[in-house]
Amino acid sequence: MTQEHRFRKPQVFIIGMPVVNYIELYKYLTAIGAQGWSSDASNAGQLLPEIYGRLCYRSFGVGLNKNVTKVREGNEAYLANINKSGHGAVLEHSNVNFIFHDVSRVFTHELVRHRVGVAISQESMRYVRLDDFKQYDDSLLTTPAKSMFDMACGYLENMIQELESSYDVDNQKFSIKKKITSLLRRIAPCGILTTIGWTANFHTLRHVIPLRTSVHAETEIREVFDEVAHKMTLLFPNAFSDMKRNDDGEWKIEYPDPEKDALKKRVDELVAERSWLAEALDKARGGDT
Ligand SMILES: Cc1cc2nc3c(=O)[nH]c(=O)nc-3n(C[C@H](O)[C@H](O)[C@H](O)COP(=O)(O)OP(=O)(O)OC[C@H]3O[C@@H](n4cnc5c(N)ncnc54)[C@H](O)[C@@H]3O)c2cc1C
Repeated sequence: MTQEHRFRKPQVFIIGMPVVNYIELYKYLTAIGAQGWSSDASNAGQLLPEIYGRLCYRSFGVGLNKNVTKVREGNEAYLANINKSGHGAVLEHSNVNFIFHDVSRVFTHELVRHRVGVAISQESMRYVRLDDFKQYDDSLLTTPAKSMFDMACGYLENMIQELESSYDVDNQKFSIKKKITSLLRRIAPCGILTTIGWTANFHTLRHVIPLRTSVHAETEIREVFDEVAHKMTLLFPNAFSDMKRNDDGEWKIEYPDPEKDALKKRVDELVAERSWLAEALDKARGGDT
């Protein structure tokens, strides 16, 4: 295997996302007298939390619930309020189906620690024969380090091939092949690249993305979740409108804080005034020294 093939970057695929059955939705809305209601949500992923949220208070319009005298209009404002008030449960109605390909077992071990709101299917190393030991292309890998990784992986690949021949694995029945494949994976490195399917709801994604893009998180999982965050904020901008990436590449939830915003505005004004003052003083002193 060439070095170019040995070192890979993870790939993030979104293979599924929610759909809405508009006929059934219309029937439900008619049942509660809200058949005139519609949403400007850009897709089903953003629409579902709005529907389930409004269902709770029957807030599809004024008058459906006598306690409700005004309703929040628009998917963007509705989801912003859901996020701000922490009603994450309605976000659990929207799931996204990911496949993370060419990710290491280092990555998958970390990913599966997140237990809540997820479904996981991992490529089996008991069924799938190990042919090559591809590795994550970490930016810390220097040219000499890559050569050493390459040598170590090449050595292990040769060992596996020799062991497979000694067990005559190709001519065994499937149940024996499986046992041998499982036995030989024990000498595979922890960094070997594989594939994992991961489904997560919006609530979980809002929890996991900040944790796994933190500067304290491992490089590979940071890289994957940076892409996950980019995709989620692009596809579902209203549900993730409060999630922002900082200069260190960390995605954090920033709840709107009017007091903080006003303070920041005042500081900016003072700075602007000061620079205006500095320029005026400069001029009065007669020069641009
Ligand atoms: C930067 C970083 C470094 C880490 N280093 C290590 C390490 O060195 N060693 C190690 O072992 N792990 C480590 N971890 C993994 C970490 O300890 C957690 O296992 C992982 O973050 C998943 O926890 P979670 O709170 O996100 O749980 P999730 O499963 O994602 O659950 C989400 C939330 O649901 C609630 N919840 C879930 N399950 C329960 C429950 N049974 N009871 C009550 N409430 C529940 C909690 O509020 C939880 O935060 C690290 C994680 C990060 C992000």
